[in-house]
Amino acid sequence: MFFDRILGLFSTDLAIDLGTANSMVYVKGKGIVLKEPSVVAVKRDRHGNHRVLAVGRDAKLMLGKTPIGIQAIRPLKEGVIADFEITQAMLRYFICKVHNRRNLIRPRIIVAIPSNITQVEKRAVKESAELAGSREVYLIEEPMAAAIGAGLPITEPVANMVVDIGGGTTEVAVISLAGIVYSKTVKIAGDKMDEAICQYIKHKYNLLIGEHTAEQVKIKIGNAQPEDEGQTMEIKGRDLISGIPRTLTVTTKEINKAIEEQVEAIVMAVKDALEHTPPELAADIVDRGIMLAGGGALLKNLDKLLRERTGVPIFVAEDPLSTVARGAGEALENLSILKEVAIY
Ligand code: ADP
Ligand code: MG
Repeated sequence: MFFDRILGLFSTDLAIDLGTANSMVYVKGKGIVLKEPSVVAVKRDRHGNHRVLAVGRDAKLMLGKTPIGIQAIRPLKEGVIADFEITQAMLRYFICKVHNRRNLIRPRIIVAIPSNITQVEKRAVKESAELAGSREVYLIEEPMAAAIGAGLPITEPVANMVVDIGGGTTEVAVISLAGIVYSKTVKIAGDKMDEAICQYIKHKYNLLIGEHTAEQVKIKIGNAQPEDEGQTMEIKGRDLISGIPRTLTVTTKEINKAIEEQVEAIVMAVKDALEHTPPELAADIVDRGIMLAGGGALLKNLDKLLRERTGVPIFVAEDPLSTVARGAGEALENLSILKEVAIY
C-alpha cells in the first residue's frame, strides 16, 4: 500500500482512447498530450514476420501509397481488434512516446475500448498495456468515457444517451447509475461515408479517388441534409477510361446524396436505441436529450437531422474528437469514478 503510493507519486499515469480512426493519450495532471491516427505501417518479410516501420501520423501518410511488401494497417478498423500484434505495437508506441524515459516507475493505465469487444480482445488489450510497462491496467467502455467527457451525470438515476460516431463504428448507449443499460454498435460511421463518396464519384464521373481525398471532401463540404446553399470543392483523381489524372468540381448536394445511406443507418441506430430503452429512462431522454460525440458528430447538420427525425433534443459534445479521451482522463484523475465504471 505504502509502496504503491510511492509508485503513484513518480509514475506517469495515462488514459488512452484507442479509437478506430484516431488514438489519444491523456497524461494525469497534464491533459491530452498525444493525438495520432490509429495506423501502423509494417513491412513483411518472406517468412511472414513483420517489422513496424511507422505508427500514427507518419503511417497514415502511407495509406494507399505503399509499395509491395509494405502495408499501412488500421488494426481496429471496424471496432474489433483485427490484428493483436499490430495493436500491441501501436499501444506500446503511444505509451513509450508520452512516457518520459527518466520515469522508470511503471504507470497506471486506463484504456477506453469499444463496448462490444470480446473477452479475448479485452484480455489482449490488457496484456498489451502490461507488456508496454503498465503496473495496473483498467478498461473502460468508450460510450461511458464519452458520457463522462461530455459532462453527463452518469452516476445519477437518470438516463444519459450518448452516440459516439467514429471512423469504424457508431456506438449508441444509454447509461444510468454508472452502468450501461443499453448499447448497440453498428459498423457504419465515417469510413463507410468515405467509401460511399469514392463509389459515387466513380459511378457518376468515372473518376477514381482515394479514401483520404473522400474524407477531405466529407469534412469540407459534407452535409447530412440537402442544403440549397451548398458549397463546391475541387478534387483530383484518375480517370477510369483514359487512365489520366483529372480534376473535378463536386457539390454539397452530390456528397449529401453519396452518404445518404450511411447517415440513414446512424439515424436508425438512434431510433432503435430509443425503442429499446425502458419507458422510465426513455422519458428522461426525451427531456434531457441525446449527446453526440466522435468525429462523425462534426458532420454538418447531423444534429439537426437527428432532432427532426427523433423529436428529441440533440447536443454535440465540446470538441467531439476528444470526448472519450477527456472522459477516460477524468476517470484517471478521479479514482472514485474509475472504481464505478471500470470493467473486467
Ligand atoms: P474513432 O473514435 O473511431 O477513432 P474519431 O472520433 O476520431 O473516430 O472520428 C473519426 C471520424 O470522424 C473519421 O471518419 C473522420 O473522417 C470523421 N470526421 C472528423 N472531422 C469531421 C467533420 N468535420 N465532418 C465529418 N466527419 C468528420
Ligand atoms: Mg472513438
